[in-house]
Amino acid sequence: MCGIVGYIGNKDAMPVLLDGLKQLEYRGYDSAGVAVLIKGKIRIAKRSGKIKDLVAMAENRSELDNANLGIGHSRWATHGAPTNINAHPHQDCMANIALVHNGIIENFSTLKEKLIEEGHKFKSQTDTEVIAHLIEEYYKGDLKDAVLKALKELEGSFALGVISSNEPEKLVCARKESPLIIGIGEDENFIASDVPAILKHTKKVIYLDDGEIGVLTKDSVRVFDSSGAEKN
Ligand code: GLU
Repeated sequence: MCGIVGYIGNKDAMPVLLDGLKQLEYRGYDSAGVAVLIKGKIRIAKRSGKIKDLVAMAENRSELDNANLGIGHSRWATHGAPTNINAHPHQDCMANIALVHNGIIENFSTLKEKLIEEGHKFKSQTDTEVIAHLIEEYYKGDLKDAVLKALKELEGSFALGVISSNEPEKLVCARKESPLIIGIGEDENFIASDVPAILKHTKKVIYLDDGEIGVLTKDSVRVFDSSGAEKN
């Protein structure tokens, strides 16, 4: 179980994500990746190896610059070898959704079989990819609602960061038995698996409880329980 960082605000997301991942390196990992949303499109850079290899990869990809929303991940493989394809973020069939996950989905093979029968095409050998396809299956115009429904099907542990090109001003996160925090800034908000990833930007932190889901925009943070009821 490794690291997650996410950003929504007015700044260029890539430096925030890459620096956040560097601050989480102490947790150990075998691969790393980012997804950013620019002009309505999700763009991904990911690979096995070190964060510095991902940084080098990103330096040659100017189309990743100037996003205001993104998620980053460092992976410690549990299901599927530490390959470029298995690195996170993972996507749905239409590539409208990108997500990062720490933890283990115990019932992924049953879910994967069902989703394949329903016509979903898988690219990786990870347990994580089922979550992207489940969210796609449940998506009816509200990312939070689709994530809530998908989570009900999962057995195991997760910390999640999810973005969708259909909702370019939203970052959704959730956790169960895997750590995840929300960082609150001025006209910007963050998610991270641990405080060091976002400490340069804010000291105001919300610790998500088990089963909770967070919806971040650049100027709001809302937290819901697993039934969808909003917490005050
Ligand atoms: N189980 C997932 C995978 O193997 C996530 C591992 C992690 O927590 O980094 O890709």
